[in-house]
Amino acid sequence: MAENGGAAREAAMLGFHIEPVFSYYAYHGPIFRAMVRLCHGKEDGISNYGFICHCKSCGQSQTFGFDELGQISCGCADRTDATSITVVGPLWTGPLHDRSSITEMLNLAVEWGWAHTSENGVTLEKLLGTMIEESDPRLPPGYIRLDEIASRAKVNSPPLGTLIHSLQKEGYAACRSHIGANAVKTNCPISSCIVVAREIRNLR
Ligand SMILES: [Zn+2]
Repeated sequence: MAENGGAAREAAMLGFHIEPVFSYYAYHGPIFRAMVRLCHGKEDGISNYGFICHCKSCGQSQTFGFDELGQISCGCADRTDATSITVVGPLWTGPLHDRSSITEMLNLAVEWGWAHTSENGVTLEKLLGTMIEESDPRLPPGYIRLDEIASRAKVNSPPLGTLIHSLQKEGYAACRSHIGANAVKTNCPISSCIVVAREIRNLR
């Protein structure tokens, strides 16, 4: 997310680092809101600020840190074709939300009777539930659209819930995205998503 990236950059210049509490994207507008916690000192461990490369040829997206800028490429057969790679960044590539803060918000929403208020057919309970799932640290920053998987697999789009369940059964992290209704957030490579989508369609 570019907004978190900008905040991360400014915080670093002042000797702080940020930790997102939650990030919310609404299509109408569109509006993007992020709440971040400003923390003292430099970030330890890996940087959450980097580049996302997308390969048009195979559909795979990958995250690269600043120190890996020279190594941006895709592992697919078309790696010799540099024009198939688009790179965006630098931007925030870390988690969008803090799971414990969102869980606390959900508990309060239930306690205060707000859980079933809804906007555009999505209840607060469902939105926060999706955000909790999105907080899985194994998940990459972006998402894969169902229609992209379906068109590459040359099958009709599998039901989103079935696809997510199948990916989880294969041992991958997978969940819905609060940003894209017909999209999956997963650490499964798109090539394997295609295989799973075909399996789901052939079983029917
Ligand atoms: Zn590729």
